[in-house]
Amino acid sequence: MRIVIALGGNALLRRGEKPDAAVQLAHLVAAAPALAKIAAEHELVLVHGNGPQVGLLALESIADRSLTRSYPLSDLVAETQGMIGYWLQQALRNAGLGRPVVTLITQAVVATDDPGFEHPTKFIGSGYTEDKAYQLAKRNDWTVRRDGNSWRRVVPSPKPQRIVELDTAELLLRNQTTVILAGGGGVPVTEGPDGLTGVEAVVDKDYVAALVATELKADLLVMLTDVPAVYLDYGTSTERALHDITLADIAGHTFPPGSMGPKVAAARQFVTEASGRAAIGSLDDTTAVVAGSAGTQLSSS
Ligand code: ADP
Ligand code: MG
Repeated sequence: MRIVIALGGNALLRRGEKPDAAVQLAHLVAAAPALAKIAAEHELVLVHGNGPQVGLLALESIADRSLTRSYPLSDLVAETQGMIGYWLQQALRNAGLGRPVVTLITQAVVATDDPGFEHPTKFIGSGYTEDKAYQLAKRNDWTVRRDGNSWRRVVPSPKPQRIVELDTAELLLRNQTTVILAGGGGVPVTEGPDGLTGVEAVVDKDYVAALVATELKADLLVMLTDVPAVYLDYGTSTERALHDITLADIAGHTFPPGSMGPKVAAARQFVTEASGRAAIGSLDDTTAVVAGSAGTQLSSS
């Protein structure tokens, strides 16, 4: 099978954990044996999130007094691709993966007039109290929004239209190489008369994973996060997990933008356009989610 697995940035760094490198590497080391086994048996593409990580780099750049202006988000996304890609390459190799594994610094083309630029939805960085969040928002010209129990910065998240480096990925996959690509949703770029230019945004990695999976004609799209499944009535006393569902079952249900919403939308998009299977589940259950026995499994009928 050709499989696209999207790893949540929040699965690399659980809510409330210190954003230390060692903490994140430890999560990847724990996840690596299951991923390495899949990589050894299938054509595997890994996409990863970077919400917490790109937020951290943005804060560091804002605080750096030697700069005339802080680094654009596009540059910071590229930095996270290199760092998380390196962690993954090393963890997979140390877990015994014999096949070559490579990280592609990847650009995702977005439309200049995407409505996402006007309505920021993508959470980045850590959570704050409401007071602290508004104080930071005022000082740094941020938009902030509630994410569960805390408040976080939100940035524009335009829809990815095209992956610039996808032909390279196809070549590598045909040569039994595991490919880590479009990390953090891909470096957001617009395409104009002068070519490609980085923009202030963070593309959602779930949407980009659906696009990658569709374009590479994958059989399976898996989104691994920090919850075991998609729930109805999430966070209430009547919450219940969805297991095997069809497009018809999920129609009419809505999920929060910036967290579960993009995952469900990406799953629906892939199942509709590519008629493959899509799954959403916990990074702790990787093997079972890929096998179809854990998480939320979405198929066309
Ligand atoms: P990732 O970094 O993996 O993309 P997100 O925070 O974007 O993680 O999305 C996963 C989060 O979605 C979960 O931690 C959970 O708090 C939240 N969530 C919101 N609605 C739901 C739902 N209906 N079912 C499950 N999780 C949900
Ligand atoms: Mg997310």
